[in-house]
Amino acid sequence: MRVKCLIIGSGPAGYTAAIYASRANLAPVLIEGPQLGGQLTTTTEVENFPGYPDGVEPFTMMDDMRRQAERFGTQFVSGIVTKVEFAPNPSPLTPHRVWVEDTDLYEADAVIIATGASAKYLGLESERTYRGRGVSACATCDGFFYRKKTVAVVGGGDTACEEANYLAGLCEKVYMIVRKPYLRASAVMQERVLNNPKIEVLFEHNTLQLTGEGKVQGADLIYRKGEPDEEQRHIAIDGFFLAIGHHPNTELFKDYIARDAEGYIITHDNSTQCYQPVTGNLSPVTPLPGIFAAGDCADPHYRQAVVAAGSGAKAAIEADKYIKSL
Ligand code: NDP
Repeated sequence: MRVKCLIIGSGPAGYTAAIYASRANLAPVLIEGPQLGGQLTTTTEVENFPGYPDGVEPFTMMDDMRRQAERFGTQFVSGIVTKVEFAPNPSPLTPHRVWVEDTDLYEADAVIIATGASAKYLGLESERTYRGRGVSACATCDGFFYRKKTVAVVGGGDTACEEANYLAGLCEKVYMIVRKPYLRASAVMQERVLNNPKIEVLFEHNTLQLTGEGKVQGADLIYRKGEPDEEQRHIAIDGFFLAIGHHPNTELFKDYIARDAEGYIITHDNSTQCYQPVTGNLSPVTPLPGIFAAGDCADPHYRQAVVAAGSGAKAAIEADKYIKSL
């Protein structure tokens, strides 16, 4: 299928790009990917997206965005992109190529990558049981629901410290569950955590399981596993926040576009334009014409739906300009 604009991903960035691209008469096709509605749908309620004064269920919000894109003619394809071939010097005769489920080939003048990022989880069965019922990977999104309660944050990096500090502003008490005897976070972040009377850092602790009747009410921890003084401990908590990192979903594009050491797509100068990876004698900033990135796959900092939506709009505007220049 030959299209002007192909969008990969169905989170806030992808749907917003679709709304803008379809209103610009680009007749976009959006490949929905493995998680319809994106990462947001793993949370319970969205209260910080403008336009929903009473809060909104994530599925409702994503469906609203989808219907808005559909209204202007976006075509949706349910499936997963399995292979891409981005042309280094694309033209209407040599477009970018994207395969869905290995078999369906889409050729496009412009591709907007909005594949998001996935939070890392510990892999415990109880973590899955209580997802959305006390387990969260985003303090900014869900912290408000735990006002004056007791929560735990897992991780010892900058994200964990930032989340613990944020939660300490809302909650009665915050435990940090850190597997090493030290924090990995930057000195200033460590200082903030260690000086906050509401935060108790549990060094050398790992989580065995979460407990509770229908929702998280506690966590079984193990202290200094494998050491002579190993000990099991239980903490009573209402919320369990993972802050052990994110994976940007960009592996598929690694041969074609520049990414940072963590895998986030590199864009420059407030634009969504993608660049070729630096190899041989390419300049470090050689654009890959017609390839744009929006949302969390290119954003290690904010990870917010409203920011992702904004960058989706930017990507579509840039794709439109590019297509008109062909
Ligand atoms: P990091 O990779 O820096 O830290 C992850 C933390 O999670 C580490 O403490 C790690 O432990 C722990 N962890 C990983 N896996 C497990 C596990 N299975 N069980 C228990 N603990 C685990 O990720 P961040 O998201 O914190 O940061 C990513 C990048 O973003 C960093 O470069 C960071 O500096 C940056 N950042 C900067 C901020 C700022 O400047 N304001 C804010 C947020 C992030 P261990 O140390 O033992 O490996």
